[in-house]
Amino acid sequence: MTNQSDVIEVDCLLVGAGIMSTTLGVFLKEIHPELSVELIEMLPSEAQESSDSWNNAGTGHAANCELNYTPLEADGTVNISKALQVNIEFDLSRQLWAYLIQKGAIQDPASFINPVPHMSFVQGADHVSFLKKRHAALSAHHCFHGMEYTEDTSQIAQWAPLIVKGRNPEGKVAATRIITGADVSYGSLTSHFLKYLNTLGGFKASFLDQVTHLQREPDGRWRITIKNRQTGSNRFVIAKFVFLGAGGGALPLLQKSGIPEARGYAGFPVSGIWLRCDAQEIVSQHEAKVYGMAAEGSPPMSVPHLDTRVIDGKRSLLFGPYAGFSTKFLKNGSWLDLFKSLRLGNLMPLAAVGLSSFSLVKYLVGQVLQSKADQFEALREYYPNVNPKDWYLEVAGQRVQIIKKDKLKTGILEFGTEIVESADSSIVALLGASPGASTAASIMINVIERMPPTGLLPSDWKVRMKGIIPSYGESLITDEALCNKVRAETAAVLGLKNIA
Ligand SMILES: Cc1cc2nc3c(=O)[nH]c(=O)nc-3n(C[C@H](O)[C@H](O)[C@H](O)COP(=O)(O)OP(=O)(O)OC[C@H]3O[C@@H](n4cnc5c(N)ncnc54)[C@H](O)[C@@H]3O)c2cc1C
Repeated sequence: MTNQSDVIEVDCLLVGAGIMSTTLGVFLKEIHPELSVELIEMLPSEAQESSDSWNNAGTGHAANCELNYTPLEADGTVNISKALQVNIEFDLSRQLWAYLIQKGAIQDPASFINPVPHMSFVQGADHVSFLKKRHAALSAHHCFHGMEYTEDTSQIAQWAPLIVKGRNPEGKVAATRIITGADVSYGSLTSHFLKYLNTLGGFKASFLDQVTHLQREPDGRWRITIKNRQTGSNRFVIAKFVFLGAGGGALPLLQKSGIPEARGYAGFPVSGIWLRCDAQEIVSQHEAKVYGMAAEGSPPMSVPHLDTRVIDGKRSLLFGPYAGFSTKFLKNGSWLDLFKSLRLGNLMPLAAVGLSSFSLVKYLVGQVLQSKADQFEALREYYPNVNPKDWYLEVAGQRVQIIKKDKLKTGILEFGTEIVESADSSIVALLGASPGASTAASIMINVIERMPPTGLLPSDWKVRMKGIIPSYGESLITDEALCNKVRAETAAVLGLKNIA
């Protein structure tokens, strides 16, 4: 029997204290300050999983440098539609962050975002030809205005000297650069969001609390069982709306909800390792995020990159990620996570993906078997004169890629993010991890647009949303003047570079 005093009722329950739930919390409380919102986190503090600044690469993904967003089509053209979408989704995040700074909710933009040029760097005639075409297609669009291209090593040496020094001068190379790029400390940003939310009435966050069960009440609300990890005691929250922003933990919770929409989903965990350098005499020679070409068969998010990171005011370099395989869905998760997620309904999609993804499996096995010398060989492609003693290993966050039913192939592996919701939208889960934290604002706007039409949001919520995101409801892809205006304004507030 449950003692009714152990049960509290809220409007919205957010599971997980990462960038996603905290972004949603900020939107909800800005749009409707009267909403009661509770956030539940099983670890001792916020941003300890993928949103931790060292667990991800901190790229403000805007498709400036990530070559996987611009596939080469069979007819030889470069398709830029995905790149455009990712590019303008980052503008939504920029607008949210600028709004919070302007209202005084966050004080110092440099505590979470810093200007760092975004570069792509390729080697060999085929890749150079691709990059040239990519640059031509992108730079013709106002969204990528100002992107530079060169095949001249002395120019590349000016942009990023470490990648040129010691390189064979005979090799054909090319690079693009855009100076408007950013490095983002998503861990710091998550903490800023939470700090701000804690100043607002009707918001509560609790830590070391783990959501263990989700059950439908007869009136359609959700009864959530929360186990305190210190005391072992259970408490209950009844919520009209539940957001499962639990990162790798979202799939198991979605399965526990029992909603039919969850059937057929499975997760494929990919772990990651970085090489990190804090030696300032080296760090000071590199001021860019330099993305290369993915190795054959590798998942898109494993594209190697040599990055400037700015975390807690200190600069470092990060290289990787080296992928790995672990059966954990969270860095702090259990080795049993993958096995516990197996259901009759997702065995077929898992098996189909396993059978059809030979190149991915081969790539992951290769990565797992890599020696330290192999890891530095990969870094040498980007930094020929690297001295291993200046670098050390850093374990990255877990990514759980989505596997789901596909009508034709019976199972498909996806590298993006996906919102899965009940038919009445009273419970929404975010699966997958890419482009990730950069597009948190866009994803959460999407979640809000799907929220139950009655009760939770005021009738004028779109007007209120426009107060936060001035471009809301308009397309920055087609409206060049608005795009330029939004970029100039947010760059000024966030301390980023702008190309007029
Ligand atoms: C190696 C790597 C590199 C990346 N690089 C980038 C990048 O350069 N740019 C970018 O934009 N994105 C990047 N990402 C993606 C980005 O980090 C994620 O998309 C983002 O952090 C996900 O945020 P989240 O809030 O959904 O999840 P998380 O930050 O993982 O937070 C989920 C939280 O839920 C909690 N939780 C889980 N289960 C429960 C439960 N049952 N009860 C209570 N709490 C629970 C967890 O403890 C955790 O704190 C990268 C990710 C990885 C792993």
